[in-house]
Amino acid sequence: MYFSSSEILSVGTELLLGDIVNTDAAYLARALAVLGIPCYHQSVVGDNPARLRAVLSDALARSELVILTGGLGPTCDDLTKETAAALMGKTLTLHAPSYDRIRTLLEKRGLPETENQKKQAMLPEDAVVFENDWGTAPGFAMTADTEFGQRTVILLPGPPRELEPMFDVRVRPYLASGSEETIWSMNIGLWGIGEAAVEQVLRRYMTESANPTAAPYCGEGDVRLRLTARGRSEEECRAMCRSLAEELCAVSCEPYKPGILSDYVFGIDCTSLSEALVGMLREKHLTVSAAESCTGGYIAKRITDTPGASEVLSGSFVTYSEQAKQALVGVRAETLAEYSVYSEQVAAEMARGCREAVGADIGIGVTGVAGAEDAVVLRAGEAHTVSAGTVFVACAVGNDVRVERIVLAPGRRAGTEAREYVRARASQQALFMALCAARAL
Ligand code: ATP
Repeated sequence: MYFSSSEILSVGTELLLGDIVNTDAAYLARALAVLGIPCYHQSVVGDNPARLRAVLSDALARSELVILTGGLGPTCDDLTKETAAALMGKTLTLHAPSYDRIRTLLEKRGLPETENQKKQAMLPEDAVVFENDWGTAPGFAMTADTEFGQRTVILLPGPPRELEPMFDVRVRPYLASGSEETIWSMNIGLWGIGEAAVEQVLRRYMTESANPTAAPYCGEGDVRLRLTARGRSEEECRAMCRSLAEELCAVSCEPYKPGILSDYVFGIDCTSLSEALVGMLREKHLTVSAAESCTGGYIAKRITDTPGASEVLSGSFVTYSEQAKQALVGVRAETLAEYSVYSEQVAAEMARGCREAVGADIGIGVTGVAGAEDAVVLRAGEAHTVSAGTVFVACAVGNDVRVERIVLAPGRRAGTEAREYVRARASQQALFMALCAARAL
């Protein structure tokens, strides 16, 4: 199936009021991008048939494929289906298999069957039905020749726990069917370089390479670079993406950042930095430990969120007070007095100390100002201001310690939000440094 244009139309007054976030549209937009179907518009409309008709007519005028979400339920304000079918010139009839499924489901749940449940099984006669194994209302696709040309409208249930699996299991194969081509995407995770810098250094590839395409987008503090290839088989697409990835990794990041792009890659097709780190440590049979101050256990949490963590995390410390830093990971009183708790030297001793304490291959030490307020410390008896968001991240391997001072800008974020931002970013930086250390071992 080939569509040169598509758009997403989300139906729901709750969305308009801001009571819920439109995660369905975000999910579908990403899925369409992976399928290589250009998506040019997204709209939200309330549960109002006249306004829905108007927005849907506009959508049909400009897009070959329109995906609607929400409003498929049994209640009388769920009018998406009726409105869309009327606009496409379709009449609704009872779809017996869907009706049977709904009745069986209600019976299983011990719920009485009501007349309006039947409404959910009313579908256009020639619709392609997407059975709902995750709820009651089936989704469907209908195609018609309209005054704008041939158009396909897909209707999907609003709840994400129904929409997402239905799209993956039923709609994706429908959209990919009949095509001679396969589309395949590779996702490169980058850390320590911003989206704008990635775009600058890869601009030529982004504008000149039509197949595979390269597009950066923001992850959670990281940047993702998606390469998408069209080809006759998955193997062919994989090979095309791999070869472009190799080329991109060698691109210089100067003058925006030192080094080449591969210096910032944490993984390919992996969901997070912690997954990349745990994978690398397992592959190399290495272990890690952390002494955390301002991150308050975030690093250990992220590592233990990942399957296989027990093989790689020897032990970890939350050493918040100066006393704990001395007692648990051997930070020296003189170092604290001379350089203060917010210093490269203390971070380095924390990294070395925790590594030695549990006999790990790699030690991480983190100390810094997590809050939104600057801190005043004494260094060799003199007062110094350390700005909010300044964090020292150290990584120790054997006797070598590498320390980085990062200055995060909590900006106008209020109290807990600022702390959360600094903790999240600092722990990601620590994971990345541990990953680089593990790679080099
Ligand atoms: P139901 O059968 O549950 O009525 P429906 O297809 O009629 O499903 P809606 O009534 O529009 O869908 O929405 C049901 C619930 O699904 C909403 O209360 C909301 O929690 C969730 N939902 C709807 N649309 C979206 C959306 N675009 N993004 C995220 N969640 C959504």
